[in-house]
Amino acid sequence: MLKKVLIANRGEIAVRIIRACREMNIDTVAVYSEEDRGALFTILATEAICVGPARATESYLNMDNILSAAVKTGCDSVHPGFGFLSENPTFARRVKECGLKFIGPEADVIERLGNKSAARELMQRYAVPVVPGSDGVVETTEEAAETAEKLGYPVLIKASSGGGGKGMRLAHTAEEIKEAFETAKAEALANFSDDDVYIEKLIVNPRHIEVQILADEHGNVIHLGERECSIQRRNQKLIEESPSKAINEEQRKRMGEAAVNAAKGAGYTNAGTVEFVLAEDGSFYFIEMNTRIQVEHPVTEMVTGIDIVREQLRIASGLKLKYTQSDVKMNGHAIECRLIAEDPENNFMPCPGKINYLHIPGGFDVRVDTALYSGCTISPFYDSMIAKIIVHGATRNEALLRMRRVLEEFIAQGVKTNLGLLYMILYSPDFIKGKYNTSFIEENLGELLRPLEKDRML
Ligand code: ADP
Repeated sequence: MLKKVLIANRGEIAVRIIRACREMNIDTVAVYSEEDRGALFTILATEAICVGPARATESYLNMDNILSAAVKTGCDSVHPGFGFLSENPTFARRVKECGLKFIGPEADVIERLGNKSAARELMQRYAVPVVPGSDGVVETTEEAAETAEKLGYPVLIKASSGGGGKGMRLAHTAEEIKEAFETAKAEALANFSDDDVYIEKLIVNPRHIEVQILADEHGNVIHLGERECSIQRRNQKLIEESPSKAINEEQRKRMGEAAVNAAKGAGYTNAGTVEFVLAEDGSFYFIEMNTRIQVEHPVTEMVTGIDIVREQLRIASGLKLKYTQSDVKMNGHAIECRLIAEDPENNFMPCPGKINYLHIPGGFDVRVDTALYSGCTISPFYDSMIAKIIVHGATRNEALLRMRRVLEEFIAQGVKTNLGLLYMILYSPDFIKGKYNTSFIEENLGELLRPLEKDRML
């Protein structure tokens, strides 16, 4: 069993990992930037070590310093969390070269799946449905135009190394393809130092549904059901729930099997997520596989009762999965809201600053994953997501009413947040009915940002 884990991350996910380790009697080493000296995760870890200045490139992305810290403090493993170095195959490789266990899949697997165009080809080989698109990378404008013509407009041009919605461009017509192709390529180069792009048919009004999988190092792979992640703004998820209202038992079964096949085909180990888009006609297609723990993993934990981070640590220790597929039961319904320090009324501008007063609500079936405390400061240097509020209920309606109640009680004074926007979404008739797709926020933003009037409260 692992004995001492270095956590190459910060914020709430670092706290989440420390908590799982603590409950398993595993020591933790936090690495932090000068900016994070007083952060909760540095306080909660067994040991904490400064790895550089505020700028992430000099601290949380500084492989040399992080690896030195791991070796110097006698760690046997590294948990990368999400973001930062979590999907960087070079980092995973270097962790291994230092004689440490990387808590995630093998570097080669991260590399293979990190190239989205190559991942598409891999999935096709294992009979996982992919969005109709180009055969691999598209090299020239002419080839892009030909491919788009064959697929039928509208199409999406996507960066092979893409992530976070960057390097993705839409073309509605043949007139738009040249510019879309060139801007996607330029953006891909600027963001990922790789200008390879490929083309996918645009699935109109899709839902984003993903399947959590767990794979041990003995060939066992299971899935933990799906998460509905269609409430997004600019490709960033905002509210997630499990199960999805959009699929039936039969689709759930097929999607789960496809995810397991995807993981088996990729030679995957540890926790991962297979992302699909669901079309209006009920067909679903693979879009990418994320080779790390996801932000929204708690909704799956709330419905399955399985601690995914604990399983990650067990798998990395070489243990067999504790569960078989038939052990996994989805119980009730869970919803997660991402609280972000930003001003929705001012074009969602990030709002770093000091939290003067914090009140985190509790109550039955409520969970809040955060690194906030009264008096802490939210840094402008990092992601502005400051808390994940998760509730569970016997039914979706119970979970929905519980989430409203929790948001009403939540107080984070000192910075602007999207709390009001989240609350308004929970009163939107289409959200209540579960009738929404990835365009929901864009289409409803005006209405959602209208000041809450008394007659709309019920
Ligand atoms: P990234 O890695 O940049 O986040 P993804 O491939 O995961 O990119 O896609 C991000 C989002 O874009 C998805 O959640 C989905 O809403 C939308 N999307 C991706 N591919 C398609 C497609 N072919 N048709 C329609 N929407 C898509």
